Amino acid sequence: TDFSQSGLSSAVLDVLRRAGYEHPTPIQAQGIPCLMSGRDVIGVARTGSGKTLAFLLPVLRHIALQPRAGPGEGPAAVVIAPTRELAIQIYGEAKKFSKAVQMKSVCAYGGSGVKDQIAELKRGADIVICTPGRMIDLLAMNSGRISNLRRVTFVVLDEADRMFDMGFEPQLTRIVENIRPDRQTVMFSATFPAQVEKLARKILQQPLEIMV
Ligand code: AMP
Repeated sequence: TDFSQSGLSSAVLDVLRRAGYEHPTPIQAQGIPCLMSGRDVIGVARTGSGKTLAFLLPVLRHIALQPRAGPGEGPAAVVIAPTRELAIQIYGEAKKFSKAVQMKSVCAYGGSGVKDQIAELKRGADIVICTPGRMIDLLAMNSGRISNLRRVTFVVLDEADRMFDMGFEPQLTRIVENIRPDRQTVMFSATFPAQVEKLARKILQQPLEIMV
């Protein structure tokens, strides 16, 4: 199998081809159709499995079907990742596609100037990739303007088990409470212990489960 049967745009397929990604990994082969069906999904997959593209490619298609974010408008998709390093890595993958799909992604994390991140968000972002603590800061700081989540219809929680271990459960719950209930929610986790399952039950609706 290759990516051409996945319902991805030819522009996205071109980027994949140029990056040398000819065949989807197992999590991509199973995950992309599930995510593109619009259902909530739990993907149990480790780093190195290709999980990032398994959620980013459906996110890109989701964005492509929405109006682009204008200045001051909040994103249509949010990706929450446990650490700055992982957020930057996901952002790097997303940026490879920015030109092809004409979408803008912004990366926001703690430990670096929030002013620049806000200035960038103000210019309009289609996708925001963010750590949980910084998302809470942004929500608290701008009383519903800059990082407003009103347009968000696609949410990804990456490495959910790690975010849980780091004590981010209250932040994750708060973030999703700020997002409309008719969103599509996707959770990736390397392991699937009872606590993560409990969180999943709280924020996902009848999720499909994929294990690779
Ligand atoms: P991830 O599990 O998302 O961190 O991805 C692990 C590595 O696999 C990354 O360096 C990707 O660039 C690479 N990768 C992702 N998908 C593919 C693919 N379909 N073919 C080859 N390499 C891939």
